[in-house]
Amino acid sequence: MVNIVIFGKPGAGKGTQAEFLKSKYNLIHISTGDLFRYHIINKTSLGLKVTSILENGDLVPDKLTIEILENEVKKHKKTSGFIFDGFPRTINQATALENKIKQLNVSIKAVLNLDIADQEILNRLAGRGREDDKPELIKNRLKVYRNQTEPLLGFYNERSLLETINGDQSETDVSNAIFNVLKAEVV
Ligand code: AMP
Repeated sequence: MVNIVIFGKPGAGKGTQAEFLKSKYNLIHISTGDLFRYHIINKTSLGLKVTSILENGDLVPDKLTIEILENEVKKHKKTSGFIFDGFPRTINQATALENKIKQLNVSIKAVLNLDIADQEILNRLAGRGREDDKPELIKNRLKVYRNQTEPLLGFYNERSLLETINGDQSETDVSNAIFNVLKAEVV
């Protein structure tokens, strides 16, 4: 199994690069953000619970997030690996993932950190047009990232899993940089 975490600020290009990794290495792409949006669109009970959280750009509670991730992993018993996109976003989530590694067979090979300046994020997200991409919400999502998600850089650095990639390049250049890191270290 080759399991990879794609990490970075909102708008850093995680989803785009996850799709590149998915087709290149035949992995399952799990985006917790996409899963939540699916539930919201379909007005499931989980969707109704998290609608206002996503609208405000806050984080869904860890318990719900870990559950949704775990359920999704369990659906794909035969995959050659997963790309986790937008998960983990808190130390609690990362610890939960570590604790479930054996049970779920999801040992992490690399955490790819797409590194990009806030100003570039503001420019990019303004053009994306998603509900939670309004300028006032982007600022909150960056704050949430800084307070709750950024500490994971230290967490994964301590475990020698962190690979930082300059996210402020063209999509193709970022993909090539990722490919070179994985070629050298992982696959
Ligand atoms: P994303 O598409 O990854 O930017 O996620 C969109 C929104 O979904 C976030 O702003 C959060 O409200 C929620 N979300 C996605 N992943 C997580 C996570 N791992 N933990 C908590 N909330 C999450």
